[in-house]
Amino acid sequence: MTARDSVDARSSGTGRHDNTAYGGTGAPNRPRRGPPGVAGVDEVTYDRAMPTHAPFSEDETLARYEKRGALLRGHFRLTSGLHSDVYLQSALVLQHPEDASRLGEGLAARFRDDRVQTVLAPAIGGILVAHEVARALGARALFTEREGGVMRLRRGFTLGTGERCLVVEDVITTGGSTREVVQCVADHGGVVVGVGSLIDRSGGSAAFAVKRVALATIAAATYPAESCPLCQAGSVAVKPGSRS
Ligand code: ZN
Repeated sequence: MTARDSVDARSSGTGRHDNTAYGGTGAPNRPRRGPPGVAGVDEVTYDRAMPTHAPFSEDETLARYEKRGALLRGHFRLTSGLHSDVYLQSALVLQHPEDASRLGEGLAARFRDDRVQTVLAPAIGGILVAHEVARALGARALFTEREGGVMRLRRGFTLGTGERCLVVEDVITTGGSTREVVQCVADHGGVVVGVGSLIDRSGGSAAFAVKRVALATIAAATYPAESCPLCQAGSVAVKPGSRS
C-alpha cells in the first residue's frame, strides 16, 4: 500500500478515533525530509495527518456556523458602518476546537493534491484557520500582520524560494486581505498554489488567478446606512456583540 492509498483509506474511515485510523503504522506525523531547499526553515515536513472523519460539507459548515451563533440573518450594522442582512463572526465557531478542526479539515481536503508546504493567513481572524488547515495537510502555519499599512511576515517567519503556499481566511468579503497575503508570499519568493476560505460572502465575485475554494458561499447584501432598504422598511440595524 502506498502512502497515497493509506491516505484514501483513512479519509473513508469510520470516523472513530482509534489507532487503526492511522493504519497501525505508529504516530500520524512522522517527520520526513522535505524537498531539498524548499521546505522552509528546518527542512523537515510531516507526513500528512489525516482527518478521522468526513470533512464538513457546505450545508454542515453553514449549520455549524448557525448553531454557534457565528452566522446570523436579519438586519445588522457591520464594523465598517455598512448595513447587511447577514452577520458573520467566525470566532464564535472557531472558539470550539472540535469545530475549528473539522472546518480546517474540510478546507484542507480540497487542497490535498496541491503539495502545500505552508499555509498562511492574515492575522487575527485567519490564524486559527491556517493552523487547522495546516494540521490537516501536515504543513506549516504562518500568519501575516500589517506593519505600516503593508502585510508582512513578522516574528521571524520566513519562506523558502519556491515554497508552495496556500493562503486562507475565515471569511472572504472583497478578497482584499487575501490578495495582500498573496503579494506578501510573492515578495518572499514563495508560490501561491491556491486560496481558500471557510465562507465566501462575496457571492463568488472576489476573483483570484489561482485555485480558489470556499467551504460555503453566502450571498450577503450590504448597503450604505443612508440607503439601506431594511432601514427604509422600518427595522433597526443591530450590532451583535455590542452593548449599545
Ligand atoms: Zn439598515
